[in-house]
Amino acid sequence: MIKVNLSEFIHAKPGSRETIAFDIGNTIIDDLDLGFLKGKLHFTRVAYGILVEGQLDASVKTECTRCLTPFYAPVVIELEDTISLPGADLTPERPVRVAEDGWTDLAPLIGEYAWLGLPVKPICSPDCKGICPNCGGNINLGECTCGDTTPVDPRWEVLRTLVEKTDRS
Ligand SMILES: [Zn+2]
Ligand SMILES: [Zn+2]
Repeated sequence: MIKVNLSEFIHAKPGSRETIAFDIGNTIIDDLDLGFLKGKLHFTRVAYGILVEGQLDASVKTECTRCLTPFYAPVVIELEDTISLPGADLTPERPVRVAEDGWTDLAPLIGEYAWLGLPVKPICSPDCKGICPNCGGNINLGECTCGDTTPVDPRWEVLRTLVEKTDRS
């Protein structure tokens, strides 16, 4: 829940404006795990609701596409949407509405925009070495030695001897 009190906007004149600063630690919004959320949002009363716009810096927990390790990727959330007034119907386009008491949970809106800001191929670090194609081990944790230590299947050992024998005859 990311609650803000917008009660003064309910009966305000169109054009009334206010800026609210956010500095929030770890927050879970449905399937999203936000490490932090920081920035300012501007709220403007418009004829049919409250316009919210601004930019938030955040980090979203995701998985590195190279080494598959979970990490918090930095995400810039560019928000521009309209919050409906009390009593308005909630629709997929307008999922957020001010409650009768003036409080509003911005989490659904911020979650939606955070998904949009998420990188398509997140990488934990520009020099992530990824995983070993042979054993799947994380090469960032140390050079993989699986290639040197994999024992030769004994059945192939037999075949190799046969081949050598055939060569000699
Ligand atoms: Zn990685
Ligand atoms: Zn390996």
